Amino acid sequence: MPTSPLRRAALTAAALAGPVGFVTRAAWGLPVALGASRRRLRPTVAGSPQFTDGRFHNRLETPALPPASARKGLLRQMHEERHVGLPGGDIPLARPVLPEEAAELAVTWFGHASALLEIDGQRVLLDPVWSRRVSPSPVFGPTRLHEVPVPLDELPPVDAVLISHDHYDHLDLPTVRELLTSQSAPFVVPLGIGEHLRGWGVPDDRIVELDWDGSTTVGGLTLTCTEARHFSGRFFTRDTTLWASWAVSGPRHRVFFGGDTGYTPAFAELGARLGPFDLTLLPIGAYNDAWHAIHMDPEEAVRAHGDLGGRVLLPIHWATFNLAFHRWAEPVQRLMAAARSRAQVVVPLPGERIDVLDPPPLTDWWTAVGSAEDLPSRPDDAGVGSAVLARTFSRLIALLPD
Ligand code: ZN
Ligand code: ZN
Repeated sequence: MPTSPLRRAALTAAALAGPVGFVTRAAWGLPVALGASRRRLRPTVAGSPQFTDGRFHNRLETPALPPASARKGLLRQMHEERHVGLPGGDIPLARPVLPEEAAELAVTWFGHASALLEIDGQRVLLDPVWSRRVSPSPVFGPTRLHEVPVPLDELPPVDAVLISHDHYDHLDLPTVRELLTSQSAPFVVPLGIGEHLRGWGVPDDRIVELDWDGSTTVGGLTLTCTEARHFSGRFFTRDTTLWASWAVSGPRHRVFFGGDTGYTPAFAELGARLGPFDLTLLPIGAYNDAWHAIHMDPEEAVRAHGDLGGRVLLPIHWATFNLAFHRWAEPVQRLMAAARSRAQVVVPLPGERIDVLDPPPLTDWWTAVGSAEDLPSRPDDAGVGSAVLARTFSRLIALLPD
């Protein structure tokens, strides 16, 4: 959407809400992290059937934000229930032992949507986010609830880096910059995100941009950009880059990476066309009734897994960042109840490598971590930063039109 005078005024007002030093820190690096401008993005994406009226659209009618009438309740939740999503104790980590030769089918989950896939002897890095905070600002926005399980430069060489969309919890500028030197693999991304990458110094020959149903081959793998039901944007500009899920197909195995999506009947069509899948990585966290269309819940993840013809389901998009109001362990607890005999689920520790062809028995490690909501005293919210500034900021955002 265009940056209206009202939005610009709100941004300025928010910037003035705190002490000068704080605001300077908050704004430091902001223009670069925000990514490409709308003007630069437009020529790249104009040919896509998903791109009309200056922005990308879901195939199904999809409200990304609740109506103004519901926002007051959301803001109340933001102030009163934000801490509910924090863990009750330390999240245990595993230090992965990554083999020199990539396996037939294995996956290492690093937390949230970041994972390293080994498939048919090649490696694909999925939505790598190594930063401490997922926000345009180094001062406010959600911070990690656990450390990164392994330094980025200790990963073995990968064959491709796949990105689902440009939200901060999936596309991280410092991580991209480090991968530029520590790896030589191409970034395979949905339409429009190439402009962010070019602006951050990624050379053209390391960028492959695809529309939904487009595919590219990397080594012996076919990477197909597939539909997702979501939205995009790194600040007030929304939906000028495409969002996607991905099918990774090798000569012997197939994997589906959901990224960040609401439930869509497209999963059944994708399963019939590109599946069945030996492994699905599907989002289960950050759900809320107010944004149900763009973030599926655990029960819908099980349904999507079935639609896709999935064999093993690895839940993603939970545990690492506090992005909604559900209890920290609730997504995985609901998933386990919904899956029962309907799906084979693996829930690795952050950093744990799973041999998908011979998965270990499921161990419940999340119940012991628990939720901050169950603790007698309420801890500080790692997600909010300056409460005063966040409150002012969110109030201003709530006044803005969609
Ligand atoms: Zn997202
Ligand atoms: Zn996300």
